[in-house]
Amino acid sequence: MTITPLMPVYPRCGVRPVRGEGCYLIGERGERYLDFAAGIAVNALGHGHPHLVKAIADQAATLMHVSNLYGSPQGEALAERLLKHSFADTVFFTNSGVEAIECAIKTARRYHYANGNPQRHKLITFKNAFHGRSLGAISATDQGKMRDGFEPLLPGFDYVPFNDLEGALAKIDGETAGFLVETIQGEGGMTAGSVEFIQGLRKAADEHGLLLILDEIQCGYGRTGKMWAYEHYGITPDIMTSAKGIGAGFPLGACLATEEAAKGMVAGTHGSTYGGNPLAMAAGMAVLDVMEEPGFLEHVTRMGERLRQAFEQLIPNHDHLFEEIRGKGLMLGIKMKDSVVSRDFVAHLRDHHGLLTVAAGENVFRVLPPLVIDESHIAEAIDKLSAGARSF
Ligand code: PLP
Repeated sequence: MTITPLMPVYPRCGVRPVRGEGCYLIGERGERYLDFAAGIAVNALGHGHPHLVKAIADQAATLMHVSNLYGSPQGEALAERLLKHSFADTVFFTNSGVEAIECAIKTARRYHYANGNPQRHKLITFKNAFHGRSLGAISATDQGKMRDGFEPLLPGFDYVPFNDLEGALAKIDGETAGFLVETIQGEGGMTAGSVEFIQGLRKAADEHGLLLILDEIQCGYGRTGKMWAYEHYGITPDIMTSAKGIGAGFPLGACLATEEAAKGMVAGTHGSTYGGNPLAMAAGMAVLDVMEEPGFLEHVTRMGERLRQAFEQLIPNHDHLFEEIRGKGLMLGIKMKDSVVSRDFVAHLRDHHGLLTVAAGENVFRVLPPLVIDESHIAEAIDKLSAGARSF
């Protein structure tokens, strides 16, 4: 057996980046990649954004970490700014997306417990969902490949096809706590929740005293041209998870909630040694500074439209490969024909055309570029994509 220094849970490809410059990654041998994967929707400001780099360096030199046992002016400052941009009244900062999911599940259970209904512990979740890799998160997805060998998992999850409102309503019983759903499924295949579906879940939650938890770890924080994807749906959740772009490369996540939904989360119910430390908060502030610049979200919308138009022009010329466009804003994918494998196409673009993209479920090839891309990056990506489609 070969012993590898890193536990081999990732099938790693040959790219070994050593430097990032804006929207490009530079590999060990000096090779240059146009990065339309952005660390899987993380590097929202590209690589080495000077404002983010300076904020992290300055804060590291001032105060990197203190225990959450002490007051946190940095945490309060970021929380206040973040909450102003959302439905929520309160936030718990984490170091990753999956920790935000854990916090959301616990918050929902504690809400019903605080209301004297501890039996209401079950969450209705959706097929093809991805909420992370903790035991709680893999319990919330029905994807066998993530669960096999890890049983027994956390009980209390019902699985329904995504966008199946009737199916979700049929699962509600006296033990249901709420719904946990990605507003737009990312890993599952870049499928947007339909308006009727997301609005229907909200309505059912109101009618039955349930909580609506939206997972916006991939689709939130500017990625679709709105601060949050739920803004496209005319509703607000009770609890929401965020991560990835919120730290733009610094490990940061958040579980946001209304005061009512968070009523059970009192002292001693949850915690994190690192979560919300001053360094993470400084990174979060710097990202938000850039996101709040006038026209930032409009830029994302414009770039998303440009990219979608370019995809629309590309598809008819390569209809043996591509089927349909999915997603919103700069969270876009193309469902590929069954005769080709999206993972192979991603590898081909990477190895032969210097373009980094990501595969997703349902044979989808997806792009999640930095939100700061401009027209020239789109033109370059489309050139590489067309060349890649011709030579694949
Ligand atoms: N939820 C969604 C929608 C995600 O896309 C991801 C990561 O891809 C997660 C949760 C888990 O986040 P993390 O890998 O930071 O734990």
